[in-house]
Amino acid sequence: MTRVTGGLLPGSGGGDGTRAVRAGLPEPAKYEPTLPGPVFAAHYHLPGDPTGPYAYGRDDNPTWTLLERAVGELEAPGQDGVETLVFASGMAAISAVLFSQLRTGDVCVLPDDGYQALPLVRAQLEAYGIEVRTAPTGGDAQLDVLDGAKLLWLETPSNPGLDVCDITRLAEAAHARGALVAVDNTLATPLGQRPLELGADFAVASGTKQLTGHGDLLLGYVVGRDTEAMAAVRRWRKIVGAIPGPMEAWLAHRSIATLQMRVDRQCATALTVAEALRERPEVTGLRYPGLSDDPSHKIAVQQMRRFGCVVSFTLSTRARADRFLDALRLVDDATSFGGVRSTAERRGRWGGDAVPEGFIRLSVGAEDPEDLVADVLRALDASAA
Ligand SMILES: *Cc1c(COP(=O)(O)O)cnc(C)c1O
Repeated sequence: MTRVTGGLLPGSGGGDGTRAVRAGLPEPAKYEPTLPGPVFAAHYHLPGDPTGPYAYGRDDNPTWTLLERAVGELEAPGQDGVETLVFASGMAAISAVLFSQLRTGDVCVLPDDGYQALPLVRAQLEAYGIEVRTAPTGGDAQLDVLDGAKLLWLETPSNPGLDVCDITRLAEAAHARGALVAVDNTLATPLGQRPLELGADFAVASGTKQLTGHGDLLLGYVVGRDTEAMAAVRRWRKIVGAIPGPMEAWLAHRSIATLQMRVDRQCATALTVAEALRERPEVTGLRYPGLSDDPSHKIAVQQMRRFGCVVSFTLSTRARADRFLDALRLVDDATSFGGVRSTAERRGRWGGDAVPEGFIRLSVGAEDPEDLVADVLRALDASAA
């Protein structure tokens, strides 16, 4: 991307809103749309020797190319030599990094409080003879298990516990031991945190959540600076074929135009909701990294620019949590997070997370803050019965 618009390089210049609306757009061309529509192609006309960029649909697609540029401009503005690859889902992206980088006999460090599918990934890594060590996200305990590791995997803030770890400190320690560092940036989004600038080798995320924000598609991405490592990730995508459809890729790119508006609105409302919940005696274990007295706050302010749209807390019993969810009118009882419509769920219903039975993960949407706070407080009252 070398085009200059009004003195701003699309990749590096301007504020977050400016970058979001322009991210990944092609050079303006007369009679062409601003954002070209999805390209539906299994194969491309290809006479003669098969040279790129577009030969076969599992390897490349022009709609992915624009989306990959957009994500790269947000995750690593102004950084040269950074490559982005999009995937069919967040798990496809996570698996691509782990399984392309690790070999039998290697050691990998995973969080023990991360995304609920990580234990499944762990079992598969171990089946391939990879040693997996775990550490909690908060407290930088990863430092104690880094010796001999090939890859350090961080998820910060963690889902659903909202603990935060010091990416810069841990990346320095990992690099000193020759380990690569990957950060799951799903919860923060690239407007909340830029792991590559903080020293990580890979920023990996589910684009299913706030990046795209409408709860209508699954997507994942990997952004990395190490050419050799990214070549292996690309090769993994080709072998496994976990590629996004052109329609999903296009919808994602279209959604990124409103990322800054959505993230700013949802983060501000999440803080308002957290502050309202803090006043309620029946709410315990309240977590939001943006609250000044949250255990994550000190490190969060060092490395995050926005604190996310997820608030978590605990009600006394499973029954009370269910009554609360049932009484909500503006908040759908559904999993996932980051969408413009608020959602909440009793996380314990899945059985995968080490959380109390009454633990609620609330994803704050783009509704008017006063409406949402009123709905949440009314549902809390109603759940007392
Ligand atoms: C949802 C999520 C994933 C998995 O993403 P999918 O798009 O559902 O495959 C990975 N990491 C985190 C932190 C998530 O919240």
